[in-house]
Amino acid sequence: MEGVFLRQATIHRKTGNPVRQRHEDKSRPLPHLVPVQAPGEHTRGGGRHGSGERVARLPTGRGETPGILDGAIDIADVAVVFQRKSTRLVAVEDVNVRIEPGEFVSLLGPSGCGKSTLLNAIGGMIVPTQGQISIDGQSVREPNARCGVVFQQHSLFPWMTALDNVAFGPEMLGYPAPEQTGREFLALVGLEKFAHSYPSQLSGGMQQRVGIARALATRPPVLLMDEPFGALDAQTRSIMQEELLKIWTAFKTTVVFVTHDVDEAIFLSDRVFVMRSTPGSIKEEIRVTLGRPRTPEIMLTDEFGDIRRRVKHLIREESLKVFNSGTK
Ligand code: ADP
Ligand code: MG
Repeated sequence: MEGVFLRQATIHRKTGNPVRQRHEDKSRPLPHLVPVQAPGEHTRGGGRHGSGERVARLPTGRGETPGILDGAIDIADVAVVFQRKSTRLVAVEDVNVRIEPGEFVSLLGPSGCGKSTLLNAIGGMIVPTQGQISIDGQSVREPNARCGVVFQQHSLFPWMTALDNVAFGPEMLGYPAPEQTGREFLALVGLEKFAHSYPSQLSGGMQQRVGIARALATRPPVLLMDEPFGALDAQTRSIMQEELLKIWTAFKTTVVFVTHDVDEAIFLSDRVFVMRSTPGSIKEEIRVTLGRPRTPEIMLTDEFGDIRRRVKHLIREESLKVFNSGTK
């Protein structure tokens, strides 16, 4: 999936050079840096992101006024069917979901149940065979700048430095000062000192942090993440999960996160959609009522344990069905 993070930012087929495109939505004001304030001055309390945590220094994707958030995703009666020669595979069927602006949701389910297919349909990489997906009321028919995408790996341009990778999207969309934006977003993920390193010189965790910075640097209202921490060791993964929550709290972007890790899904999400296999559909929606901010210790609580038990039961039902059917 190399080079796919921003469909808007296309590469010229023959020269391999980036093709500059104009900022598609001039009515959308570019956000600005949150001014650095004394500790405690710039806090957010209550509400969905209610952390009371200081979030100064972070580039924010939106204004600070409640009610102007965007990033609402409507998935209506969606099915995706793959046809290969005479074989017809219904990968996703009968999905009806509304995801609210700024919400963090996970798609959870066994391998092959259609998580990536659904995510790719939200991002416009796949056009549904049936039904409709819209973001903020606009039908998604192709990849577009409203979605930033982070994949498990190989989502950075290996021939570009970390800074160039992050500045690439803003530059392609014709945003002002792309390099400065790149630096701000690298700082957001704590990698400003690695601006001139190439992806191969960075650890897996660092590469994924650059990937997140790159996906956010165009300030998309929606961030799509497909098992972004799947290739990381357990410790790094845990730290990345916490970092992601901090960034999301500051950035207010809607996140759709694909994983097959139950704890990861619960820890991160407002809602977990457990998927059913063959064909993939939403088996059950679990609302995660745990407070925020969350730290890994929350996984030791009874409330977390209860949700985990419920989710694991659902997943096991599905995995057994697939196992017994012998299809995977
Ligand atoms: P997951 O991400 O949950 O592991 P996927 O969405 O990748 O599952 O795949 C769902 C099903 O669709 C699988 O059976 C997979 O083999 C099939 N599939 C995915 N992409 C394609 C494709 N491009 N062509 C044909 N079949 C596909
Ligand atoms: Mg997948």
